[in-house]
Amino acid sequence: MLRNPIKHCKNCGAAVVYRVPDDGDTKDRAICPACHTVHYENPLNVVGTVPYWGDKVLLCKRNIEPRWGKWTLPAGFMELNETVAEGAARETLEESGAQFELEGFFSLLNVARVGQVHMFYRARLLSDTFNPGFETIEARLFAEDEIPWDEIAFRTVKETLERYFADRRAGYFSIHAIDIV
Ligand SMILES: [Zn+2]
Repeated sequence: MLRNPIKHCKNCGAAVVYRVPDDGDTKDRAICPACHTVHYENPLNVVGTVPYWGDKVLLCKRNIEPRWGKWTLPAGFMELNETVAEGAARETLEESGAQFELEGFFSLLNVARVGQVHMFYRARLLSDTFNPGFETIEARLFAEDEIPWDEIAFRTVKETLERYFADRRAGYFSIHAIDIV
């Protein structure tokens, strides 16, 4: 199970049952036997940035679970009523307090196993001083040979960093679509 199953109807509060709807659908859905509402569950978007300063990138040491104490690129769940770019910028500001300018879209990572899509923009830092929020223990810059590869919080972050440094060496940035299996 990707997430905790839905227990109660969002519309009327009755206990739901998981079954295939009678409308030609092929997947089990949480269905309310009282008001017949079908609850569809879809992937969540995680949005963030690769903030860079010269040949270094900014990583944040997580002050929250999961992966407390591990390093990540600034990223988090996209909110309603914002674009991917707006969400990526918001998360970067919240987690690092960095001043930056958003650049091109960089990576899209499907994590189908847990029902998530992660997306990263490149961001050019305008200053090398940071003011991280409560979610971050420490925000600091790392050159490629300083990256704590064994202490990276998420596979999507590791894959994005590897491609970022490879593109940087090649002299141009591509857009990367990656399936995490
Ligand atoms: Zn209901």
